[in-house]
Amino acid sequence: MSGHKVKGSTTIFIIFATPAESEEDGRISRINMEVRAKKALGQHFLTDRSIAESIVAALRLPENGSDVIGGNDTAGEGTPDGKTTRFPSQVLEIGPGTGVLSQYLLQRPEADLKMIEIDTESVDYLHRHFPAAAGRVIPGDFLKLDLDRLFPGDFNVIGNFPYNISSQIFFRILDFRERIPQVVCMIQKEVAERIAEKPGSKTYGILSVFLQAWFDIEYLFTVGSGAFAPPPKVQSAVIRLTRNSRTNLGCDEALFRSIVKTSFGQRRKTLRNSLKPVIAAKASREGWDAGRLGEFTSEPVFDLRPERLGVEDFIALTEKLS
Ligand code: SAH
Repeated sequence: MSGHKVKGSTTIFIIFATPAESEEDGRISRINMEVRAKKALGQHFLTDRSIAESIVAALRLPENGSDVIGGNDTAGEGTPDGKTTRFPSQVLEIGPGTGVLSQYLLQRPEADLKMIEIDTESVDYLHRHFPAAAGRVIPGDFLKLDLDRLFPGDFNVIGNFPYNISSQIFFRILDFRERIPQVVCMIQKEVAERIAEKPGSKTYGILSVFLQAWFDIEYLFTVGSGAFAPPPKVQSAVIRLTRNSRTNLGCDEALFRSIVKTSFGQRRKTLRNSLKPVIAAKASREGWDAGRLGEFTSEPVFDLRPERLGVEDFIALTEKLS
């Protein structure tokens, strides 16, 4: 593998085997492909095929094209919360790049795959090398994709996400949480830890609370930077999100979101300080005098910093401040 730097991109010659040929003939055939890895698009191409296979294998799909109930899945595992969850056959891959994951997804007959890729060079590459991808690649930006039009029903999401926009991708997934029962993705290890983290840890934050409210999160495995070309500066990790059984928060969701965001916006402050405006609004709605306000804010929960609060605690806090 060799490369040289040009402005904002690295030209890389990635040599890797096509799985079909290597598996069928028992010998490795090589594609010599030239890819300009564009930094701005978060392009780090996974070159380790066994990791790609493991990522695709982590996606639970209906066994013979018809949707099944989680727990009977091909991976032989139930959903983390033991609840029944339907896994649809529709799959959206975000950022297929040169198809290292797509090639295995296309081999799964249970998967009805669509791919969204912003990079035209990658789109051309996919069309050239994977005839089965015909009609399945959507050139464009996932963040602007009309998901309602693309998918009539529920769909799974998979991908080695562009790390620079992974938070935005998750917020979009949250917007469509009723239609996305499962996400398998590779992201920056730090972000994966943050998302999967329990309350109390330093990295626990806004995304942890929002995602944990609606999804069960499994940290599957860590991937070193050597598995990519060009290697990213950070380690990576694969996580799996499975929609939990929650249908509503039982509190005002807009206020819940605003409380989570506001409190983590000043995460070193106690809730009493960071949530002052929300508390003041409550006091004025209720017509409290200073004495009543003081009594309210002396409750022990307001001594805490936001990282101590789990989803249920934030729900209780939201109810208190409604
Ligand atoms: N799946 C490939 C590529 C991962 S790199 C692999 O594992 O090797 C991330 C990919 O996401 C790149 O192909 C990049 O072009 C694409 N991408 C970046 N921003 C995107 C966006 N907004 N919408 C869709 N694809 C995007």
